[in-house]
Amino acid sequence: MTTPQPLWAPSAWLDGRWQDAVLLRADASGRWAEITPGVPAPADATRLPGAVLPPLVDAHSHAFQRAFVGLAERRSGDHDDFWSWRDRMYGVALRISPDQLRAVAAQLYTELLAGGYTQVCEFHYLHHGEDGRPYADALAMSRALAEAAAATGMGLTLLPVLYERAGFAQPALRPDQRRFASDVDTVLALRDGVRALGLPQVSAGIAIHSLRAAAPASMHRLIKGLGDDPGPIHIHIAEQTAEVDDCQAATGSRPIAWLAREFELDARWQLVHATHAEPDEIAAVAACGAGIVLCPSTEANLGDGLADLPRWLASTTPLSIGSDSQVGRAWPEELRWLEYGQRLLLRRRNVAADPARAEGATAARLFDRVRVGGAAAAGFRNWGLQIGARADLLVLDEAASGLEGLPASHRLDGLVFATAAPAFAEVWVAGRRVIAGGAAAEGGSRRAACVQALRQLAR
Ligand SMILES: [Zn+2]
Repeated sequence: MTTPQPLWAPSAWLDGRWQDAVLLRADASGRWAEITPGVPAPADATRLPGAVLPPLVDAHSHAFQRAFVGLAERRSGDHDDFWSWRDRMYGVALRISPDQLRAVAAQLYTELLAGGYTQVCEFHYLHHGEDGRPYADALAMSRALAEAAAATGMGLTLLPVLYERAGFAQPALRPDQRRFASDVDTVLALRDGVRALGLPQVSAGIAIHSLRAAAPASMHRLIKGLGDDPGPIHIHIAEQTAEVDDCQAATGSRPIAWLAREFELDARWQLVHATHAEPDEIAAVAACGAGIVLCPSTEANLGDGLADLPRWLASTTPLSIGSDSQVGRAWPEELRWLEYGQRLLLRRRNVAADPARAEGATAARLFDRVRVGGAAAAGFRNWGLQIGARADLLVLDEAASGLEGLPASHRLDGLVFATAAPAFAEVWVAGRRVIAGGAAAEGGSRRAACVQALRQLAR
C-alpha cells in the first residue's frame, strides 16, 4: 500500500473549535497519522474545497425500511400510531429479498454518506427467507448489507438481533415476524460470520430487539456468551409508552430500571430510544457508562414522544443519533429535530446549549456530544479528526444556501439550523474520497437499482 497524498483544509473543526490552515495526513492503513493546524499548504497536498468536519456515526439503522419511506403517511381509520405503522412496515419486511436489500441498502448508504455519516450501525433482524425458513446461506441477508456497505465505502457495524417472542406474555413470534426468529447461537454465529467476511470497514456486535422480544434467560445467556468481546450491545429500550406499561406489568419495573438492575451495564451497551426515562433511570445509566441512541426524525414520524434531553445532556451519558426508519438521512436534520422538539415542548430556545460551561452554541454542543457518543455506539475507541482514528472527513459546501455569507465561526449553526439539504461537497472514508461534488461516482446505477427494488416492493 502506498502512503496517501496529504490533504490540506482552509479550516477544520479540531478540539471543539475551528482552526485554520490544517494539514491532514493519513497512513497507508487509512488512519490519521498527522493533523496540524497553522501550516501553509505543501506543494504536494490535495487542497480540500471547504472547511472540514469530522463525520458522525449513524448509530441506529434498519436499512430495509428505506423501501418504506413515504408509504405510511396516510390514515384510513380513526387512529394511527407506532403499532399500526409497524404492522404495515412488516409488509415490506416480509417480502424483501437479499438482492433487493443489497440494492436498497447501497442507495441508502450513499445517501447517508452524502448526509454526513461514514459509519452505520445496522440493527439487523431480517434473517430468514420469506416463508420463515433459514436461507441455505445463513448469512444471505447480512452479507447483502455488508456488501452494500463495502461497495459504497460506508463503514458498517452489523448487529444481528436476538428476536424470539412477540411480547412479554407471548412466548412465540407472530406469523408475520417469522423472518426475525433467532436464538443466542444464531446471533453469535451471524456476528462471527460477518467478521469472517473480511470486508473493509465492516465489523459486528450484537443486539437484543427489546425486553418484550427476548426472554431474560436468553438475554443472560447471550451476554454470558459474549465474554469480554468488545463489540457493542444494542437494545431498543423504551420507545413507546405501551411497552413501558407492558414491562411494568410483566416485571414490576420500567424498562431502563429493569435493565440496569438485571445486568452489569458497561460502555458496550447502547440503549436505543431511551425516550421514556425517569430521572432515576437516567442516573442509573449515567452511573454505568452505557450510551443512549435517539432517532429524532423517526421518533417524530412515529409519534414516540420526546426524550428528556436536558437531563440526558446534563448527565455524563454518551449520546448518539440514528436514522432508524430512514425518513431522515442527514445528521444536521437529526440535530435540528433534537433541539426543535425541546423548543416546542418547553417554549424556550437553545435548550441544548450550556453557557455556564462555555458551551453556548447549541449546534456545536450537540455535534461534539453526538460525535463522541456515536463512536462508542459503533465500538470505536477513537473517532474523528484525531491521530489513530480512521481517516474520515466531511468537506462543507460553503456556497450552500444557509452557509454562504455566514461568519466562519457560525458554520455549524448554519449547517444544523438553516440548510435544507445535505451541504457536504466531499466525504472521505479511510483516506479515500467516496462523495465528490455531493455525489457518489456510481450513484446513477445505484439509484436505478434501488428504484427498481422500491417499485417491486411498493406493489
Ligand atoms: Zn429500531
